[in-house]
Amino acid sequence: MRLCRLLPAFLLLLAAGFAQTASIPKPGPGFSIDNIDKTIDPCVDFYQYACGHWLKASEVPADQSIWVSFVELDERNLVTLHDILEKTSANDPGRDAVNQKIGDFYSSCMDEKAADAGGLGPLKPELDRIAAVKDKAGLIVAIARVHLVSNNPLFNFYSASDLHNANQVIAYIDQGGLSLPDRDYYIKEDARMVEMRKHLVEYVTQLFTLAGQSAEQAAASAQTVLRIETALAKASMDRTMRRDPRNRDHKMTREAAASLAPNFYLDRYFAASGTPAFSELNVGNPDFFKQVNGLLDSEPLDNLKTYVSWHLLRGAAPWLSQPFVEANFKMRQALYGQKEIQARWKRCVELTDQDLGEALGQKYVDVTFGAEGKQRMLKMVDALEKSLDEDIQGLPWMTDETKKQAKVKLQAIRNKIGYPDIWRDYSSVAIVRSDLLGNVMRATEFESNRQIAKIGKPLDRKEWGMTPPTVNAYYNSSYNEIVFPAGILQPPFFDKQMDDAVNFGGIGLVIGHELTHGFDDQGRKFDPQGNLRDWWTAEDGKEFEKRASCVADEYSNFVVVDDLKLNGRLTLGENTADNGGARVALMALEHMIADDKTGKAGQKIDGYTPEQRFFLGFGRVWCEQRRPEFARAQVTTNPHSPGRYRVNGVVQNMPEFQKAWGCKAGQPMVSANACRVW
Ligand SMILES: [Zn+2]
Repeated sequence: MRLCRLLPAFLLLLAAGFAQTASIPKPGPGFSIDNIDKTIDPCVDFYQYACGHWLKASEVPADQSIWVSFVELDERNLVTLHDILEKTSANDPGRDAVNQKIGDFYSSCMDEKAADAGGLGPLKPELDRIAAVKDKAGLIVAIARVHLVSNNPLFNFYSASDLHNANQVIAYIDQGGLSLPDRDYYIKEDARMVEMRKHLVEYVTQLFTLAGQSAEQAAASAQTVLRIETALAKASMDRTMRRDPRNRDHKMTREAAASLAPNFYLDRYFAASGTPAFSELNVGNPDFFKQVNGLLDSEPLDNLKTYVSWHLLRGAAPWLSQPFVEANFKMRQALYGQKEIQARWKRCVELTDQDLGEALGQKYVDVTFGAEGKQRMLKMVDALEKSLDEDIQGLPWMTDETKKQAKVKLQAIRNKIGYPDIWRDYSSVAIVRSDLLGNVMRATEFESNRQIAKIGKPLDRKEWGMTPPTVNAYYNSSYNEIVFPAGILQPPFFDKQMDDAVNFGGIGLVIGHELTHGFDDQGRKFDPQGNLRDWWTAEDGKEFEKRASCVADEYSNFVVVDDLKLNGRLTLGENTADNGGARVALMALEHMIADDKTGKAGQKIDGYTPEQRFFLGFGRVWCEQRRPEFARAQVTTNPHSPGRYRVNGVVQNMPEFQKAWGCKAGQPMVSANACRVW
C-alpha cells in the first residue's frame, strides 16, 4: 500500500493543473533527458532548460514543503527504513539486540492509541519538577534537567573541539532558547514576521490549555513566553555575524564565565548536568549572557517557570495525544506551508533515525550499501582532490606561499564514506514497547550524557555527524574532513547505470562542493589540523575577500519570492562551494576523458557531449518546487540558495559552460562580471 501511496492523488492533481502537459510522465528518480525543456535556450535560462519538463510534471506532495532530489531520495529511503522497522517491530523473541531496540522503539511510536490515552504521561513529573521550584537558583537545576531529557530553553550547552586546539574537546555555552526559527522572527516588523508571532502566541495558548490551564491563564502564559523569547532574540547575534568563527571565539575560565552572568548559577548548572571537572570553556556570545543575566533578575520566578514549562511541552507535543500533535503541525504549517501532516509511519521512521540512528543505520547499510559503491566513491574523491590541487596551484591571484599552505590543508582532508567503522552502542538505553515519550526522553538523555562525557577528552575523529540513511553530506572544519553517508550515494546523485559525465555533475560536484568548504569564507580560517589559525598572507587574504564579495553581490541580486532577495552574505560559503565544486568536478571529468584510451568517454550520448551532460546532471540534482512559505522562511535561516540559483548562479560564472553550450557574450548565462574564487 505504501508504495502506491504517492501515485493516485498526485497524478490527479497534475492532470487538473497542467492539462496541456498531461502527456509528460512523472519524472523518474534518476537523470533523464526527458526532464529537459528544449523550447528554452540553455544560454538564456539553463535551470529552466535542464528542469523545465521536470518542473511541469512535478508538484510538492501535500505533506512536504519542498520537492527536490534530496527529498525524493529521502522518501525512497523512508520506504526502505519502514520495511526494516515493520519487520523488526514484530515482537519476536529471536531478534538480536539491535533489532529489539529499533523495533520496540518504532512500535511504541506507532501506538497512536496509547499516545492518545496517555495524557501528559511521563511529561507530568517533569512539569511538576518545574512547578516545585522555589527560587531562581533552583530553577537553573530544573533547566539542566530539561536540557538533558528534552530541548534547550534559555541557552545552549554542548561539547565540541577547542577552536584553537582541535584535538581537545571542551565545554561550550551559547545563545539559544527560541521557539521560532530565528531572532528575526521576534524583532522584524514586516507582515510575515508579525503573523508568525501571532501563530506562536496561538500555539503556546493552545498547548497550555491542553495541559490544563484556564483559557485566561494560557493566554497570559503565551504573552510571557513571547516577551521572554523576544528578549533572548534581541540579545542574540545574527546568523551572518555568526558565520565568522572569530565572533564566536571567547574562551574563558569557568570563574570568568560565572561572573559574566551570575544569575545563571553556572556552577550549579554544570553540577546538575553531571559535567566532568573542567577549568575553561568557550562562551559563544558573551553579550547574550550579560543581557539575559538582567532578564533573569527582572522577570518574576513564576514567569520563568512558565517559559521553561513551555519548552518541555513543545518538545513533547509531536508525541502526545492527537490535539497536541495537531497544534504542533499547525505551527509547522504556518512556518513552512505543508498542506497535510506526514503519515504517522513516516514520522516514526524519522524519529527512530533521529534517536537511534546508528542502530537503524546498521540495518540500513546491510540492505543498501555494497563494497562496489565505496570503491567508486573513493576513486571519485581522489580525482576531485587532484583537480582541486591543480586548480589552487593555477590560481593567478594567490602567492606561492599561501598555495603551499593550501596544499598542506588539502592533503590533510580525510574522508568518510557510507557508514562509521564503529557503531554507537545503545545497549544502556531502556526501550519500552508501550512508552513512546519515555523512550524519547531516555534516548535524548543518553545522547546528552554522551556529549557531556566528551568534555576534557581528546577528539574522537572516528565519530560521524550524520546517520547512514541521511541524504546529505558535510565538511567539518575542526575535523578537516568530508563525509558522505550511504543515503546520498544513489540516483540522481550517483547512478551505477549512468555515464561518468552525469555522475561527475551529480555526486562529483557534491564532493567538490564539500572539499571547497575547507576553503570558503569560514573554512579558510581553519588550518590542516582543524585549528582556528590564519595561514594566509595578509595580501592573499585581501584578494580572497575581494573575490568572495563578488559572489556575495551576485547572489544578493537574486529574487526568491515576490520582492524578497537572497542574503548573499549568509549564503556566501555555500555559493563559494557550489562554484568551486562545479569547476573542479568538471576538471576531474576532463582528465578522465583524456585518460580514456578507448575514446568512449568523450562520445556523445543522447545527442549531448560529456560536458553538456555534466551540466545537465548538475541541473537535475537541483530541480525543485518549493512552497512560498518555505521559500520565505529559508531566506532568513538557510545558508543554501534555492535550486534555481545554485544552478544559474554557478553556470553564468563559468567560461567552460559557455563553451559547452555555445553561449555568446550578452546572453543571460554569460555574466559580464563573472565571479571566481576557486
Ligand atoms: Zn555545503
